[in-house]
Amino acid sequence: TFGAKPGLMQKLRLAPPQPVVHALDGIDLTIERGGFVGLVGESGSGKSTLGRIAAGLLRATAGKVSVFGHDPMAGREIHRQVQLIFQDPQASLNPRIRVDRALSEAPLFHGLTKPSEVDAYVAAQMTRAGLDPAFRFRFPHQFSGGQRQRVSIARALAMQPRFLVCDESVASLDVSIQAQILNLFMSLRRELDLTYLFISHDLRVVQHVADRVVIMYLGRIVEDAPAAEFFANPNHPYTIGLLAEIPDLRQRRKVFVPVKGEIPSPIAPPPGCHYHTRCPFAFDRCRVERPALKLVAPQHLSACHLNDTLGGNPTARNKGA
Ligand code: SF4
Ligand code: MG
Repeated sequence: TFGAKPGLMQKLRLAPPQPVVHALDGIDLTIERGGFVGLVGESGSGKSTLGRIAAGLLRATAGKVSVFGHDPMAGREIHRQVQLIFQDPQASLNPRIRVDRALSEAPLFHGLTKPSEVDAYVAAQMTRAGLDPAFRFRFPHQFSGGQRQRVSIARALAMQPRFLVCDESVASLDVSIQAQILNLFMSLRRELDLTYLFISHDLRVVQHVADRVVIMYLGRIVEDAPAAEFFANPNHPYTIGLLAEIPDLRQRRKVFVPVKGEIPSPIAPPPGCHYHTRCPFAFDRCRVERPALKLVAPQHLSACHLNDTLGGNPTARNKGA
């Protein structure tokens, strides 16, 4: 058993539940300090890989990763500043370790609190995450799913982070609980001046929280825009397919066709535009040439050949429909 070795448990808790590594291809993403970026894509898009690289849990094999001016893998101080919150707190919290201990080990190690003050410190993090501080004497199984996610948020906050990487952090919760946790993230953002990379397969989830939306498909960013612009003028056919799954948005645009079929294997993605095997607008060029991310409006990038074609993108066509 690992129970007697807290150091090892710490490592296990940080390990992603299912470490599947997908190739990233030419990702260029800068998150402004204090920003809340919603990173959306299907499973296999590489969004979790990108999140883990940003959090210093995975090393990028090429390119440059900088978080507050540092390599996120370079040392424990930057590790402390970037905290990851996973989908399944059941898997990331050790069932045998009481919450007060789970929340105090790392902050003590990092000198964020002293042994004489750690109990009050932990209680304060519980309160901040919307939990009764008396619950710190409980074990993970004594919480509901939503409360358990609050415990993992409290554990992240105990590290006094500046940047939170949330990977499907509300995906396993009921819709009403999802809203409560999203509200918590929003109020923490204001209170603690946090920056977020919020990863989700579900555009509905990021719709109300993100101030910028980035869409990934098979290892590439295909669209990147401020949230208001993104939802008002979506450009990429894949984005339009994802939006078709949101009923109240679908009604507004006839051309919204849901994304069809399965995502191809990320190990051998289709040539040209990765999306051409599923895209209702694909034409010859799409099968051979990779579309570059280009500005289609201020601060709005999209990677689709239709933007070079007379008549513009499917959204522009849709406006006349
Ligand atoms: Fe569809 Fe072609 Fe645009 Fe890719 S480049 S999204 S296949 S129209
Ligand atoms: Mg994932």
